[in-house]
Amino acid sequence: MIRRILTGMRTTGRLHLGHYVGALQNWLELQNEYESYFLLADIQALSTHFDRVEGLEDSVRQVVIDWLSVGLNPQASSFVLQSKVPEYYELTSYFTFLVSMGALEGNPTLKDEIKAYGLSQVNLGFMMYPVSQASDVLLLSPISPQPGDELLVPVGEDQLAHIELTRDIARLFNRQYSPIFIEPKTKVGRIPRLADLSASGKKMGKSTNNAIFLSDTPTEVQEKVRQGMTDPAKIRRGDSGNPDVCPIFSYHKLFQPTEMVEEVYAGCRAGSLGCVECKAKLATALNTMLDPIRDNRSKIEQHPNLVTEAIMVGTEKARDVGKVTMEAVRHAMHLDYPSILGNKLFDLSP
Ligand code: ATP
Ligand code: MG
Repeated sequence: MIRRILTGMRTTGRLHLGHYVGALQNWLELQNEYESYFLLADIQALSTHFDRVEGLEDSVRQVVIDWLSVGLNPQASSFVLQSKVPEYYELTSYFTFLVSMGALEGNPTLKDEIKAYGLSQVNLGFMMYPVSQASDVLLLSPISPQPGDELLVPVGEDQLAHIELTRDIARLFNRQYSPIFIEPKTKVGRIPRLADLSASGKKMGKSTNNAIFLSDTPTEVQEKVRQGMTDPAKIRRGDSGNPDVCPIFSYHKLFQPTEMVEEVYAGCRAGSLGCVECKAKLATALNTMLDPIRDNRSKIEQHPNLVTEAIMVGTEKARDVGKVTMEAVRHAMHLDYPSILGNKLFDLSP
């Protein structure tokens, strides 16, 4: 029985609270239960960062350090550098023929991201990244699946439309050529979509300048919380506030135990708790949660080899699976030309 996970992150910067509660806590629980592949999506990063490539190498390093700091274990799971898996490029190019332009133009996550990133011109690579993401996932599919085989993609809510497309592609491929792919399942995190503290409802993101990073110092966290929005009608401490419209209170609910949430709620309503004090309580809770992660980070930073080793071993393991997938794909698509090439398969590896 094969039970695999493929999921990942764009290498566009350090990781934030949204990653922790929307993805990483899930990955941590699942990494020992599944054969797990965590993708460092550096090619997907180019969809918005093609003009800032000098920062890519550091981003890859920082994402791996964040993964290690929260407790992902490269012995139990594989950290995979997307650009070093040539099979992924090949599979992407085949999948492009199975997807209509309309499906991409109507994709709600792409629409949201175009707005959130402020893209005035949208490049082709950006429009088709959901297709390349489908090949990241299906490259790791159990081939010609047996009962009990599984492919799971734990993600935040913004990715659900893409996984739906991945399922469509698997279905289309299976129908058109041969039933070799499994349709992946998804699992969203404890908090499917963490908004920022601005009251705009915007998703916290690495590339949208609104994140509280796992590696922020305690002072940076305090400062970011201090700048967060509160109920605009509550001007001074004695005023009664409405916690239900306050982004700071929404974070108390997500990051504090119930007793504390009730205390904050009652204090805000009664006017006995001022916003300054309320924010300080939240910053303390966040810093208490982040302290051990920061400690791990400072230890890991002393050993740069850990990053290199994790990537080398994990990427090789993913390629081993990917090669098997691609043989099955070429065969299904009549691209292995047995009567012309016999066993002389072209090896595309560098
Ligand atoms: P970028 O802004 O560069 O796209 P990002 O912050 O959106 O970065 P991704 O690398 O695109 O991060 O996403 C990695 C994973 O983390 C995905 O599964 C995504 O759904 C999840 N994720 C990202 N941001 C949040 C968030 N604010 N809340 C919950 N999950 C999130
Ligand atoms: Mg994103």
